[in-house]
Amino acid sequence: MWDFQTDPEFQAKLDWAATFVREECEPLDLLFPHLGQPYNTENKAARAILAPLRERVKEQGLWACHLGPELGGQGYGQIKLALLNEVLGRSMWAPTVFGTAAPDTGNAEILAMFGTDAQKEQYLQPLLDGDIVSSFSMTEPQAGADPKEFICSARKDGDEWVISGEKWFSSNARYASFLIVMAVTDPDASPYRRMSMFVVPAETPGVEIIRNVSVMGDRDELDEGTHAYIRYNDVRVPSDAILGGPGQGFEVAQARLGGGRVHHAMRTVGKCQRALDMMGERALSRRTQGEVLAKKQLVQQFIADSAIELEQYRLLVLKTAWVIDTQPHGSARTYIAMCKVAMAKIYHDIIHRAIQLHGSLGSTVETPLHDYWHGVISMGLADGPTEVHKVAVARGVLANYEPTDALFPTEHIPTRLIAAKAKHAAILEEYGIA
Ligand SMILES: Cc1cc2nc3c(=O)[nH]c(=O)nc-3n(C[C@H](O)[C@H](O)[C@H](O)COP(=O)(O)OP(=O)(O)OC[C@H]3O[C@@H](n4cnc5c(N)ncnc54)[C@H](O)[C@@H]3O)c2cc1C
Repeated sequence: MWDFQTDPEFQAKLDWAATFVREECEPLDLLFPHLGQPYNTENKAARAILAPLRERVKEQGLWACHLGPELGGQGYGQIKLALLNEVLGRSMWAPTVFGTAAPDTGNAEILAMFGTDAQKEQYLQPLLDGDIVSSFSMTEPQAGADPKEFICSARKDGDEWVISGEKWFSSNARYASFLIVMAVTDPDASPYRRMSMFVVPAETPGVEIIRNVSVMGDRDELDEGTHAYIRYNDVRVPSDAILGGPGQGFEVAQARLGGGRVHHAMRTVGKCQRALDMMGERALSRRTQGEVLAKKQLVQQFIADSAIELEQYRLLVLKTAWVIDTQPHGSARTYIAMCKVAMAKIYHDIIHRAIQLHGSLGSTVETPLHDYWHGVISMGLADGPTEVHKVAVARGVLANYEPTDALFPTEHIPTRLIAAKAKHAAILEEYGIA
């Protein structure tokens, strides 16, 4: 059954969330605009505003909606989560206010799936409660897109694992209470069994942040970088700090990255919608040559292309959510890769058009488009580059096909015509058709 309606009860929650995000979360974006701020638990003023807002979200049953009820979430499923994330995507702070901010969401998921009871109590619960933040430490300075190139290692020493090596772009490590670190534990094993995943408390001796790397838009001189270049100097953790088992690192990483990518895709719908809303208002308000911009056909093309592309993308994201909700585990892999690829392109195209339509104002730091534009770069890189995901899409699509042994393709018209003529030979002969 195909249905594009939201049930009225949940629609009421979405309406509440839309007003709440506009009135309560967006002011936080204005007061504490830097990307790292939602993760900075030391920012007392921001935390004082945040705490009562989170209580209101919990009262509405909208806290940590990515989680099942056993983990304190609502278990709404991915479609409802997609609709909610569209609303939250409009504001940088909203995911933190609603308990669904990455990378903590993904880290919580793998702790829930692979953590011991003790790890869940120590790390998962405070993470779910929003009291601490975490970091995911996988990419290395010499390799990112291909984990087979990773060299940061962990060796067993008695009852401990000793982690040695460097990691790059561990987002929010400077604010994190713990890091989830991927390390090579069996260099000679097959590529996907070489690595294991560890939970490392941030204060463990030997965890050294070499520097917090700034991205475009950050002011390095103000130390705004949030992507840590980290050295693990023979960092010792107990043997049960391993998540899953030895050699399961790749599997654990996949378990977290799929959800993270699709949640990001859902929020991107909201960002693009906000940019389209801004374009609509601008086109109807700004005048040139005696008429509003909306009368210009090239401006109409901006609006039409953006609306069509956004609708197509939104349907892809919702279909992906539906596949996750209804099909066996793993069925959504190709769809998630499609979302990841499409996200980077549509976000770039719509934000760029919105900036262009705002003219000089669009080039300033005086609209939300400024932060959105900086985000364009990370869309095609974070959680894996576009090129790698395109390969995954192609692989998934090609898995549905078989090669032909015939000389000509199955759709070859002369070959099929011979078969069609043979099928209806008697009638064709009766009517004198050769
Ligand atoms: C904002 C942001 C946040 C991030 N947060 C984290 C984090 O919290 N934790 C973490 O561990 N990492 C994080 N990363 C790192 C991210 O996962 C990597 O940037 C990504 O995996 C790509 O790795 P790389 O940067 O080393 O690029 P490389 O591996 O050096 O690739 C560079 C380029 O080469 C091309 N390329 C690579 N592979 C292929 C291929 N197979 N086929 C064709 N072309 C290819 C692509 O154009 C690619 O962009 C973050 C990155 C960004 C931008």
